[in-house]
This record gives sequence, structure tokens and C-alpha cells, in this order.
Amino acid sequence: MTDKTILVTGISGFIAKHCALDLLQHGYRVRGTVRSLKKADEVKAALRPHCDITRLEFVDADLLADAGWAKATEGVHGVQHLASPFILNEPKDPNELIRPAVEGTLRVLNAATASGVKRFVQTSSMAAVMYGHPKDRTKPFTEDDWTVLDGPGVTSYTRSKTLSERAARDFMAQNRPAMHYASINPGLVFGPLLDRDMGGSAEVIQMFLRGKYPGCPKLSFGVVDVRDVAKMHRLALETAEPSGGRYLGVSEAAWFLDMMRPIKARLGRQAKKVPSFELPNFMIRLVALVDPAARGILPDLGVALHIDNRRTRQTLGMDFIGVEESAPAMAQSLVELGLV
Ligand code: NDP
Repeated sequence: MTDKTILVTGISGFIAKHCALDLLQHGYRVRGTVRSLKKADEVKAALRPHCDITRLEFVDADLLADAGWAKATEGVHGVQHLASPFILNEPKDPNELIRPAVEGTLRVLNAATASGVKRFVQTSSMAAVMYGHPKDRTKPFTEDDWTVLDGPGVTSYTRSKTLSERAARDFMAQNRPAMHYASINPGLVFGPLLDRDMGGSAEVIQMFLRGKYPGCPKLSFGVVDVRDVAKMHRLALETAEPSGGRYLGVSEAAWFLDMMRPIKARLGRQAKKVPSFELPNFMIRLVALVDPAARGILPDLGVALHIDNRRTRQTLGMDFIGVEESAPAMAQSLVELGLV
């Protein structure tokens, strides 16, 4: 047990609830930010079955306003900054994603610095690492790579994550606060949901469980289990490594079909609508003529992804849960929560 309080921004989110759970289970006090205090009861209800929630408190704060952030960071040892809009569809106005991501991150960094916070962990993404590169690239993506913002296939979400991580690193370089900084860059996050407030990545598996697609597009993603992402956030707060670390949260690069196979194997009849074959690329290209969602995936269609995060594994001592466990764990919880 420690008296250190960690601020978890956007604690109502899918990953942030797991971060809070992991911190509480490791003896920290947790303060979570919510946009509306009405959400506090939902978060408590999600965490109560798994841990002692008497060391959990809430502050209301929005990434788009200054109010609440001084109170949120007061007396806090560390911040895990997860709040950021995560939606699968392209918004009409990219600033719906970019403004809260970038301005919000700077707001939290400024408040944390003013409050004398010692450690700051930002939830970035593989979206800030591996987009906009030539599609015939075979060199694995590592902790050194950055998304090329004017390259092909860069969406507003990808842009929001790249710009917000850049903004944080620039802030640290320019202001040199006595605060340790690290980013966690997860791939597509699977694993169990703690409640029905499911977040963007579960929507991917939900669509397949509901039989929205007859087959899998030939798309490859770096994937990771949410329990590992939460652990990485805590390890990055505790690490003796120098400030500035960039840690890639990926167990492996997997094709959609590799994600669906273990779901079918574990869930049996409950996954009867989950496809067991790949759609030919030409079929997706035809669908893309009329479907903007299909159009969005064209740049990545058939592109084999290579990721080498050995540095992260060694530095943080991570041994990642594989997709054969993380994908069915998420599917199982979607079924149990009545979300299919
Ligand atoms: P969720 O959608 O579940 O959580 C997003 C959180 O951000 C919610 O708590 C939401 O609050 C909060 N939020 C959004 N806009 C604002 C705002 N203007 N002010 C304050 N809070 C806001 O997503 P995830 O848990 O999946 O994602 C959490 C983080 O992880 C994000 O930074 C995301 O980019 C990153 N990430 C996610 C991946 C994934 O596969 N899930 C992969 C890589 C990175 P509210 O509940 O009020 O809407």
C-alpha cells in the first residue's frame, strides 16, 4: 500500500478503467477525471466487483476547458493521461478529434507541471508510429518510427494521436519541467470489458460477432490485451529508465482472420456469425465504390505489418498476452454483457 495518488484522465473509458483497476490492485490511490460526475457511479460499479474502491475519487474536467484540471492534479504523484476521443468513423470536422487530443494534452501537462506532479504517462498509439509509410515497406516498425502525416492512409484519428504525442514531447523539451514523461503506444486493444461502456476497439469484434461481414478483409493490425496496456501504464510510472521513453504495446501483428479463429474456437455457437475466411481484395475494392468505411481501409488492404518492440519488452519486462487469448476474452465479455 502506498499513499501516492495517480490521476487517471478519462477514467470512464475502456482502457482507463483497467488502468484504475491495476493501480488500485497495486496499492495506489486513484483520482479519475470524468466529463460528468454522473459517470462516477458507473465507473465505481464496474470496478467494485474486482477491487477495494474506497481509495478511488473523481473530479470533473473536460479536455476542452481549463476548469477542473488544477483540482484534478493537486497533490497527485503521477498522471496517466488516457482521455482522448476514439471513434472508428471519420468525422466531418477533423478538429472534433484533434482539438481535444492536442489542446487537452497540453492542458493536462500544464496543470500537472504547475501542481508539481512527478511522473506523467501519455496514452499515445501505434497510430502515431506506423501510418503514412510506403506500403511495400518490409522493415519492422520500432519505437523510433513516427507516422508521416502527409503520407497515404492518415486519418483524423491517426493525426490526432500523432500530433498530441508530438505536442507533449515538444512541451517537455521546451519547458523542461521536473516531471518524468513516457508514452505508451498500444496497437488495437482487445481483452475483457469491465462494463457495457465499451469504447472503439470492442466495436470491431462486435461487428464480426453480429455478422456484419461475410468474410474478413485482409487487414493486419498490431494487437494487445488491455490488461497488458494497464500494466505498461503502471510500469512506465515506476520505471527507473530516463524520461522520454516510448513503449509500444503490441503482442503481435495479426490478420483479422487470426483474430477471428480463436474467437470461433472459444465461443463456438455464440460466434456462429464470425467469418472463417478472407474476402478477396478485389471484392473490398468493389464495395469501396459505395461504402466509405470500406474506402477507408483500402490503403492498408493486403499490407503485411512488421513490428519489432523488443526494446519495450526488455525495458519494461513485458511478456505480452497473445491474440489467441485477448480476442476471445473481448468477444466473451461482449456476449456476457449482452452487447451482441
Ligand atoms: P474510450 O472511448 O473508451 O475512452 C475515451 C475516454 O476519453 C472516455 O473516458 C471519454 O470520456 C474521454 N474523452 C473523450 N473526449 C473527452 C473530452 N473532450 N474531455 C474529457 N474526456 C474526454 O477509448 P479507449 O479506452 O479505447 O481509449 C483510451 C485511450 O487509448 C485514448 O487516448 C485512445 O486514443 C488510446 N488508444 C486506444 C486504442 C484502442 O484500441 N482502444 C489503441 C491505441 C490507443 P466520456 O466517457 O465522457 O466520453
